[in-house]
Amino acid sequence: MIIQIGLVSLMVTTALSGFFFTNTHQQALIDLREGGRQMRIAQEALMDAETYVLNKALGDGDTGISEYNRALEALHSRRNAQLALLTPFIRTSDVNATIGGLIDALQASWTDVLELARNGRLNEAQALLRERRSAAQVGQIRSAFDAFLTDWNSRFAVHETRIEIGKLIVLLSQILIGGMMVFAFRSAARDAQARQTAITQVEASRKQVGHLFGMADMLQSAADHHDANAVLRATAGELIGGFGGALYVFNNSRDRLVLSTSWSCGDAVPLPETIMVSQCWAMKRGKPHINQGGAKALCCEHHVSSLAALEIPMAARGENLGLLQIFAEGADAEARLAAILPLSSALGDAMSLALSNIALREKLRSQALRDPLTGLYNRRYMEDSLERYVRLAERENRKVSVVMIDLDHFKRLNDEHGHATGDAVLREAAAAIVGALRETDVACRYGGEEMIVFLPDCDLEDAATKAEQIRARIESLSGTHGAKVSASLGVASVPSTSGTSADLIRAADTALYRAKHNGRNQVAVAPLRQGWRSQSEATTDEPALLRMAAE
Ligand code: GH3
Ligand code: MG
Ligand code: MG
Repeated sequence: MIIQIGLVSLMVTTALSGFFFTNTHQQALIDLREGGRQMRIAQEALMDAETYVLNKALGDGDTGISEYNRALEALHSRRNAQLALLTPFIRTSDVNATIGGLIDALQASWTDVLELARNGRLNEAQALLRERRSAAQVGQIRSAFDAFLTDWNSRFAVHETRIEIGKLIVLLSQILIGGMMVFAFRSAARDAQARQTAITQVEASRKQVGHLFGMADMLQSAADHHDANAVLRATAGELIGGFGGALYVFNNSRDRLVLSTSWSCGDAVPLPETIMVSQCWAMKRGKPHINQGGAKALCCEHHVSSLAALEIPMAARGENLGLLQIFAEGADAEARLAAILPLSSALGDAMSLALSNIALREKLRSQALRDPLTGLYNRRYMEDSLERYVRLAERENRKVSVVMIDLDHFKRLNDEHGHATGDAVLREAAAAIVGALRETDVACRYGGEEMIVFLPDCDLEDAATKAEQIRARIESLSGTHGAKVSASLGVASVPSTSGTSADLIRAADTALYRAKHNGRNQVAVAPLRQGWRSQSEATTDEPALLRMAAE
């Protein structure tokens, strides 16, 4: 019988080790994927900046400096993290060469070249480019990128192969140990009862492994916390049925764990909505911990239930991700929880992978929708959503307004105080705009120093008031950087001034132009639509709006 028990333990151990092994490599794949993506963004930024400088040196004046600044910012923001990884891949005789050094030297040359080009000294600009060997420096950085990405590809392939090998080894060892067990029973056991018990154990263990791998597969395609929670509840029910449980997810902005889901917890388990990391031994130590009712035992501060609780901390790359809790009652609760520790740890491990995946996906989504300088939504998001807002307003007979905002004499501000100040003012203006808005309002960066705000359920009059508040907030930024800051604003609204999303933008733009024309630092409202007057809302102060529109 000892041999059989040994074989069952071996089976469970190999299965769980295989599971942890593949999970570790899945995590490495996630990290690599993100690293490679960042590297490609930096590579494109380098090419954009170089193209801009070459075009300027050749006298092409079409592209704006903002593209160049954005490319430099993309390079600098990755300089200490991803770009530092390129240094070992530089091929040069200078052993002290670093990517940061190369980029600094390039940027210094480019600044001089752009200065010459700005003053119309194109021949000198081109000669300077040749003299400083900028093309060769870019070539060195580019080949470092290429070498890094080749190395990255091979590392990616290694992890993928290891995952496949891990799965194969687990499968083969299960078959092999299963065969050995059947053989051991056939030869040694005449006792049919014992054989049946062992076969049941083998079957149960195989099922557990199946559930774990099935869970990992399902979690791969979980799009959000809701999906992942459903997979966790279903798997926990199969794997450790008879135990209640709860999942807390770490919320970065609130700096605490927030209850995400729970199952089979009756009234005996009062679950707090949030838990501070400092209240939890499992989170503080980074190790599983069992809270039991006894007064002598070391018990977490957040544990208020009379039941015993097994707590599994979840973390990745030193970041807290969450906490898995499993509850049990009765005199032997602690022993039963200790017995399911390996399975619960495997559950926690699979779940922490899913949580880090979801967090990464949310970060990528927000990066794709947001403008990196101001944090406002970008133009692509604005174009996608404006149409939706206008349709919704039409269908539900509601209003939607837009305010178009353009900073005044921003080129002059850049010229007189430098681009770094220009960028800081843009960021502060964006924050000032957001500070004046309701939660349902949406602020986007429309282009260079132009921003646009959607105000759902807001009529023309309220939008004009809001625009005036925004104008005042932006004006109050004057002085912070020793520069005068102001903006001109154009307001338009569906249905009172415009019928479609294209009309709405055009009307706001025309009003903005009028505000510029009338002396800047002011709000102008689009004129009411023809025929609108007869059906206009009773609440609208029409004469006042007409006055603003006509001025
Ligand atoms: P106006 O009052 O008529 O709007 O004058 P303006 O100078 O603001 O308008 P113009 O369109 O001539 O110039 C816009 C300037 O905004 C030019 C460009 O250098 C600057 N700009 C655009 N994007 C950025 C950016 O991201 N950062 C910085 N610092 N400047 C930017
Ligand atoms: Mg402007
Ligand atoms: Mg402009």
